[in-house]
Amino acid sequence: MKFLKQLKLGASNAGASTGQQWLTDNSAEPLAIHSPVDGELIAKVSLCTPVQYQQVIEQAQQAFVSWRKITAPQRGEIVRQIGQALREYKQPLGELVSYEMGKSLQEGLGEVQEMIDICDFAVGLSRQLCGSTMHSERPLHRMYDQYHPLGIVGVVSAFNFPVAVWSWNAMISAVCGNVTVWKPSEKTPLTAIACQHILKEILARNNLPEGVFSLVVGTGAEIGELMLDDKRIPLMSVTGSTRVGRHAGQKVAARFGKSILELGGNNAIIITPNADLKVAIPGVVFGAVGTAGQRCTTTRRVIVHESVYDKVKDTLISAYSKLRIGNPLDQNNHVGPLIDQNSVRAFSEALDKVQAEGGKLLCGGDVLSGEGYASGCYVRPAIVEAENHYQMVQEETFAPILYLIKYTGKVQQAIDLQNDVAQGLSSAIFTQNMLEAEQFLAHWGSDCGIANVNIGTSGAEIGGAFGGEKETGGGRESGSDAWKAYMRRQTNTINYSTAMPLAQGIKFDL
Ligand code: NAD
Repeated sequence: MKFLKQLKLGASNAGASTGQQWLTDNSAEPLAIHSPVDGELIAKVSLCTPVQYQQVIEQAQQAFVSWRKITAPQRGEIVRQIGQALREYKQPLGELVSYEMGKSLQEGLGEVQEMIDICDFAVGLSRQLCGSTMHSERPLHRMYDQYHPLGIVGVVSAFNFPVAVWSWNAMISAVCGNVTVWKPSEKTPLTAIACQHILKEILARNNLPEGVFSLVVGTGAEIGELMLDDKRIPLMSVTGSTRVGRHAGQKVAARFGKSILELGGNNAIIITPNADLKVAIPGVVFGAVGTAGQRCTTTRRVIVHESVYDKVKDTLISAYSKLRIGNPLDQNNHVGPLIDQNSVRAFSEALDKVQAEGGKLLCGGDVLSGEGYASGCYVRPAIVEAENHYQMVQEETFAPILYLIKYTGKVQQAIDLQNDVAQGLSSAIFTQNMLEAEQFLAHWGSDCGIANVNIGTSGAEIGGAFGGEKETGGGRESGSDAWKAYMRRQTNTINYSTAMPLAQGIKFDL
């Protein structure tokens, strides 16, 4: 495939890199990566060994010593060059994201665009890592706070945003003065290796030390665990399931490390009697079936007022009947495959379980076979009439199942249903009524990290801080002031008088 060559990927690839150098060890059987699109072998990857891991971390420690001394705007200049390179590689990288992960080509290209956008954002940020100044109660004293880099930032990413999540972390972290060690999902390591090749050119051109951006492709159980336990990594940013995040958060906290946890969601859209359904229905459908239901922000529940319930139900069923399911690189298709057959099994099992609880399957739910579906990873997105308290509705099944839930009272009842799950990532309301919209956004409204009005749950612009509450983890990445998590704050007081006055009026005369 042309894009593999353009991205410098071979039939076999090393899985560990300190930036410009690839570390090779062919003693173990390499990992074979098959595409969920057609089941074909894309390439093989030698996993990072524990010995190589130590080399990578030692190199990263050394790199930090010099990288942090480069001024923040100069670090921003490196990130600007990375953004420029990503523009040049956007098409092949977007194609690889689509082929390795299974999302539509448009979404694959969109993911690379998000990387470019975060680079632009980080370049501006490199001149704005601002602290505050405060007035001291003591005469001729100055107080301010400033932000210093942390050191090595470990990034563990999930398969569904195989490159964007890394860039959200790594580009912000880089302008903050940190070095990054990235462990991508073992389901999508090729996109990560492709990014490392792109970086390599820039690191070499700018004579940067080895270790500013490193890669360790390995399993969670081996390399992931090493990172969680590693005191040399002061900040771990972990994106993945709540199960993995809960474990990661506890391990990192036990060594007094910091963590950013971006975990599972159970996102709902509320449709009130005052919604414009022409706007709401496309928002629900894209939110529920985009990326084949494998976004952390996928719409999993739609909570609809009884007065418009039947209309919404019929319109959704009709819209679902028009979905074209197939090769995501073919831009005529709306829905691509799930990542693997385990996910297909999870989809089918969730549907069986929710029906056993009383849910009613309204459409979809079958696993597709035959021509074009050879990988066995294609399913028909499902809509299920359900109640919010069902166990399956309370869980995140990472597949395209939309639960249709009715409410009968005022908007607060819908908001309470929406909040009545363990997760708290994204939420939305469709209404033309300002009072309903404001109630949804009030502090007794949505309890999620993201709350949208007349926009679906999926998709976020990089300018905002991205993340959720409750079992979604509580971290924030990307825009706004999320950068502060990648730095340590220091409060400074300077006495430029010739006396030693104490604070709080304390006298200590000698
Ligand atoms: P996953 O939890 O299976 O794996 C995520 C990452 O954690 C992988 O890199 C994996 O190797 C690593 N990992 C697994 N065990 C580990 C361990 N013991 N120590 C360290 N690392 C370990 O998730 P997935 O299937 O790749 O992705 C889907 C999940 O990610 C969904 O729950 C989705 O909602 C969530 N997600 C959340 C966000 C967000 O921003 N909130 C974004 C994307 C995905």
